Amino acid sequence: MKKGLGLLLAFLLLWAVFLPGTAEDGFEEEEVDIEDLEDLPESVDIGDPLWDFPVALEDMNPEYIVLANKHYLLAEDYVPGDLVKVPSDPKKGGIKWAGSGTDGKLKGWYLRADCAQALCDMNAVMREIDGFQTMYLKSAYRSWGKQNTMYRNRLKKNKGKDDGWVSMAGASDHQTGLGCDVIPYNWTKKSGMNEKMLQEEECQWMAAHCQEYGFIIRYPSDKKEITEINAEPWHLRYVGIPAATYIMEHGLCLEEFVQELQTAIEHYVAQGGDPAKVEAFVQKPTDGDRESTALLRTVRDGTGNRCLRRQKRKGRNEMDGMALAVQEARKALDEGEVPVGAVLTRGGEVLWADHNRREQLHDPTAHAEMLCLRHGAEKLGDWRLQDCTLYVTLEPCPMCAGAMVMSRVGKCVFGVPDPEKGCCGSVYDLPADPALGSPGTWEQAADPGECRSLLQAYFQKRRTEK
Ligand SMILES: [Zn+2]
Ligand SMILES: [Zn+2]
Repeated sequence: MKKGLGLLLAFLLLWAVFLPGTAEDGFEEEEVDIEDLEDLPESVDIGDPLWDFPVALEDMNPEYIVLANKHYLLAEDYVPGDLVKVPSDPKKGGIKWAGSGTDGKLKGWYLRADCAQALCDMNAVMREIDGFQTMYLKSAYRSWGKQNTMYRNRLKKNKGKDDGWVSMAGASDHQTGLGCDVIPYNWTKKSGMNEKMLQEEECQWMAAHCQEYGFIIRYPSDKKEITEINAEPWHLRYVGIPAATYIMEHGLCLEEFVQELQTAIEHYVAQGGDPAKVEAFVQKPTDGDRESTALLRTVRDGTGNRCLRRQKRKGRNEMDGMALAVQEARKALDEGEVPVGAVLTRGGEVLWADHNRREQLHDPTAHAEMLCLRHGAEKLGDWRLQDCTLYVTLEPCPMCAGAMVMSRVGKCVFGVPDPEKGCCGSVYDLPADPALGSPGTWEQAADPGECRSLLQAYFQKRRTEK
């Protein structure tokens, strides 16, 4: 025993003496690819380096990201465990009810506890800080039986045709106790709900901020092919803040998120990760392989790539720059400007982020890109921007593409192409014109979803104001 201890001490001593040198040498010899390091997602769990997904396992509740749709049916007897009655007095921190559901023994609107709290918090901020009237809770938890009755009634009304407005029993997000229909006052007087609600300021606010409370827009207008449900700007789904933030900032729907997550789980287990740690997050379609492959294909087609996960990883830096540009575009929308945002980066560092300010500055040149080039160069102390990347939500116009050429911007990544004014390939391709000898390149972002929906929201609003 004593001998063993002595040996151990001697070994520790040797280790302490030699480790610093050998470790340093080892580090120099090891091939460390800097780009690989930069590619690591920010929220990666250091304790489990095999978990390669932007949301840490610890930051997700597997019950809160459960899919309910035609291919992932909930069981007839599935009732969430912690349903609470949603308080209906906004003055006491609740949210008003539009009608009240009767569902077996439940009278009124019920949601899972965390979801109910988040909804009340969101409504309080909308009322007290952002000056809206209270929102109205139009529907919340619905049991399998209730949904079944609703679906059958809808079918009867439509001569047996499923029009996509009411889900079949088991396929409704409402059965999770995490899905709720939240409408502005104007719509409490109307009999139905439809996509025109997208024009309401309250709904635009929810689309921009719901993730701060853990909600996502469950049925976005640009994801109908995947969700197989018409756009529902009123239907919020609680998933928890980290997952909601990732989903909303990357313009995903829950189906795409769950698909990405399943791929990450497979990858994790294949690399030797502990299956017990991810078991609860595994979701399998209830209608067998055929249909689930169909869903997979839709998701992959949407990004134009079979291996969704790897593609995303490679482009992570691009995606982050674009997410920031989208945030800027959102600010422009709030300020009544055409919602275009831009970000100038160098080596992963943001030099300047800005948005269109033409109206407020009375300056025809105050495009988002121009502001980024001007202030970014100022910050760098150099007008030559060949090491920089410019992210912008809309294809640059002749002025901005010209400024990019003149400042030698290395790369431009843009969201939505502009067939009317775009000068990175649409109307003209200034950076590629050999006559100008520009060193810069451009590429289109893989997923311009939110860049486009912000612009659509702006022009839709303009049209209704006229
Ligand atoms: Zn709904
Ligand atoms: Zn421009």
